[in-house]
Amino acid sequence: MVDGTVYVGSIDEHVYAIDASNGIDRWSFQTDGLVYSSPAVVDGTVYIGSDDGTVYALEAAFGTERWSFQTDGDVKSSPAVVDGIVYVGNSDGHVYALDTADGTERWSFQTDGSVSSLVVKDGRVYTVDRRTVYALGNSDTENGETERFETCSACQAELNDYDNPAFCPECGANLSDFVKETQIYDPN
Ligand SMILES: [Zn+2]
Repeated sequence: MVDGTVYVGSIDEHVYAIDASNGIDRWSFQTDGLVYSSPAVVDGTVYIGSDDGTVYALEAAFGTERWSFQTDGDVKSSPAVVDGIVYVGNSDGHVYALDTADGTERWSFQTDGSVSSLVVKDGRVYTVDRRTVYALGNSDTENGETERFETCSACQAELNDYDNPAFCPECGANLSDFVKETQIYDPN
């Protein structure tokens, strides 16, 4: 809720701005897909994704579209907005960094899974899938390169020095269940 207004997506394919005092719609905005994403509302703009694959930036006051950005998968995750960048993931595994001003793509990264949530901290965006932790943006890696390392999620032992062991050399854990991969990406 922002300034007495609740912004919410709906499975009727709309985004609604609802007056919290009386429940009356201030505006609604139609997308072409179900809207499971929760909006981020920052500086008068509502950022939200839809199963039509689009990330929308809407004027919070009027519901008019400022810009939209088309992706190739459902956008069920909720955007995070930090320092003029909208970070959002989609079902085909991409994480996008979009300029809040006009939706220009700053960078994107393809993960191995479907991105259902992400967190931004200290200039990096983090997301996880079943076995991998992704730390994207502002790292010490080479520009545009991805650094990968694997750890045992049972004992945290680093596994990069070993050649795909079936069991953790340190604690013996079965790595089909306990391996964790981390990928770090620096787009700049
Ligand atoms: Zn281990």
